Amino acid sequence: MAALTNLLDLDPAALIQWCGDLGEQPFRAKQLQRWIHQFGEADFDAMTDLAKSLREKLKRHATVAAPAIISDSTASDGTRKWLIDVGDGNAVETVFIPEDNRGTLCISTQAGCAVNCRFCSTGKQGFSRNLSIGEIVGQLWMAERTLRREKGIAPGPKGERQITNVVMMGMGEPLLNYEPTVAALKLMLDDNAYGLSRRRVTVSTSGVVPMMDKLSADCAVALAVSLHASNDTLRDDLVPLNRKYPLSELLAACKRYLEFAPRDFITFEYCMLDGVNDTDAHARELLALVSNVSCKFNLIPFNPFPSSGLRRSGNPRIKAFANILMEGGIVTTIRKTRGDDIDAACGQLAGDVQDRTRLLERTQRMHAYQQKYGPDFGRIVEIPG
Ligand code: SAH
Ligand code: SF4
Repeated sequence: MAALTNLLDLDPAALIQWCGDLGEQPFRAKQLQRWIHQFGEADFDAMTDLAKSLREKLKRHATVAAPAIISDSTASDGTRKWLIDVGDGNAVETVFIPEDNRGTLCISTQAGCAVNCRFCSTGKQGFSRNLSIGEIVGQLWMAERTLRREKGIAPGPKGERQITNVVMMGMGEPLLNYEPTVAALKLMLDDNAYGLSRRRVTVSTSGVVPMMDKLSADCAVALAVSLHASNDTLRDDLVPLNRKYPLSELLAACKRYLEFAPRDFITFEYCMLDGVNDTDAHARELLALVSNVSCKFNLIPFNPFPSSGLRRSGNPRIKAFANILMEGGIVTTIRKTRGDDIDAACGQLAGDVQDRTRLLERTQRMHAYQQKYGPDFGRIVEIPG
């Protein structure tokens, strides 16, 4: 028997095509897509307005399978992290950040990352593999469905939605896993799936210039660019991809992107590293660098991890840095972090799951830290936008 098709792997156009191959009309694909993505339904028998014959065909040929959850922890402020199994000993993180007027899901696009930024624990673990469309959009599917079910909210299209914003700021470089990322984005934006506005879906990139241009043509969502340095020498060291796409090219690509972007600014992320990129001189150099790009800055206090050899800038330094940018006329926010413990840092938890024994150790250690520092330790609690 042929393998079942995981329908989470099909973007809107591919689902129409797939249904067509089964002899079904495009409107059936739309109905099916609504069942899967708006109602979070995986059971074909529950899709009551589909003809019984179609439901039988679906059962023979398809499945709706999100990746399995390895662990699930919630902080006292409601920030929730899932560790997601993506096979072969690999795992990625998905983080939900609830706020008064929005709910943001931070999703991963790769297991590991080949860019190998100096301050990033995901990068330090190397690159394992690209996530599939179903593994990317499956994080949203799983999170929305879980949150709704727990709250007893009836499944449905708009209104009851728990996740209003998506940021691709988990593990991996989305623009180095381009096709699956764009297919997942298309589902996020599609009115017969999640119906999110382009302004509320953000791709974060370390600066894959040609793919930024391609994204502006294929699916222009909000863009965050991980800048982290005010000159090429420093950025070559911190973000090795800079040697391929230096700052002049990156900033030119940002300007081009703005012509298509749903927002009239690019968000620059800037990880604050003590004594490395955080002096007044760096801030002034940045002002000159971005002077002709409409932008906002989001300063991220570095989440330390042992092998990095780097330290987080002190709060007064971060504030002084922010002040220089703001006095230069740039809207600047400082991302809040909860808990200083290193094992809560970016990609840290998922980094060691190659070996399940150590995963258990990790999880136990994480719980110990939660007891020590309170449950609301974590990586990201405030997202730009
Ligand atoms: N690869 C993409 C998206 C994932 S990383 C990118 O680099 O943009 C999301 C953000 O977290 C990036 O801005 C990244 O630079 C930042 N980040 C990575 N490691 C970090 C750490 N240890 N402390 C603080 N921010 C970190
Ligand atoms: Fe990859 Fe982003 Fe981490 Fe750099 S910061 S190694 S691009 S995930």
